[in-house]
Amino acid sequence: MHPHSIIPIGEIHTPFKQKFAIPRQPNLANAPGLIKFDADVFHPDMLRGIEQFSHLWIVFIFHQTLDKGYKPLVKAPRLGGNEKTGVFASRSTHRPNGLGLSVVKNAGISLKGGQTVLKVSGVDILHRTPVVDIKPYLPYADCIKDADAFLAQPTHIPHRGVRFSEMAIKVIKQHTHTYPDLYELISDVLAQDPRPAYKQSNENDAKVYKVQLYQFDVAWQVTNGEVLVTDIVEA
Ligand code: SAM
Repeated sequence: MHPHSIIPIGEIHTPFKQKFAIPRQPNLANAPGLIKFDADVFHPDMLRGIEQFSHLWIVFIFHQTLDKGYKPLVKAPRLGGNEKTGVFASRSTHRPNGLGLSVVKNAGISLKGGQTVLKVSGVDILHRTPVVDIKPYLPYADCIKDADAFLAQPTHIPHRGVRFSEMAIKVIKQHTHTYPDLYELISDVLAQDPRPAYKQSNENDAKVYKVQLYQFDVAWQVTNGEVLVTDIVEA
């Protein structure tokens, strides 16, 4: 065995300030990410040629669950949250080495405050997650046309209609200039019904849930099978 330590190359900034409601996998919401590089390991040449690739693999550390360790078996949301599966047959955050892997859209390099940053979208990653590597997605090798995942199907991801109260629309409009994607982001995230699996069959849930996206606290409920965004407050 060859123990090997990993140094983050930077961190990714995303709208997801808490784990609750982050999509289970990438590209389920059009969520932006901004990779900020660590000056000690980064050189702008490292990104030379990256514009040739529409999609990238991001390797990152599940830093917020590292302290929980891992177990051989994990509860898989696709199995209703009760049945267990092997950690290596899952995309659980609780795994040896705590590494995450997401394929995201390459939205280009830009300069922010004099620093090179890499923009991506479709992230399922918590704000300020340490990034350890970036690799191009190679369709000829990474896209397996006859691949099957049997029990893990997109049909296991809820897709509810999302409505907004007038109050919520007003707040979104007030911030259109800075957050042009806010309406779409909230819709994408809440359509997946982030409630715990055992709650997801409840079509009229009196509980008001809150999710934080960017600096906004978004309040929502499930009524008549739809998500209703009742209020949005700047935190
Ligand atoms: N696509 C990645 C993979 O397969 O390795 C991540 C899948 S994992 C099931 C996605 C979940 O990880 C998100 O819904 C969120 O709850 C959690 N997550 C994202 N970033 C995290 C972090 N830095 N620390 C702990 N959990 C994180």
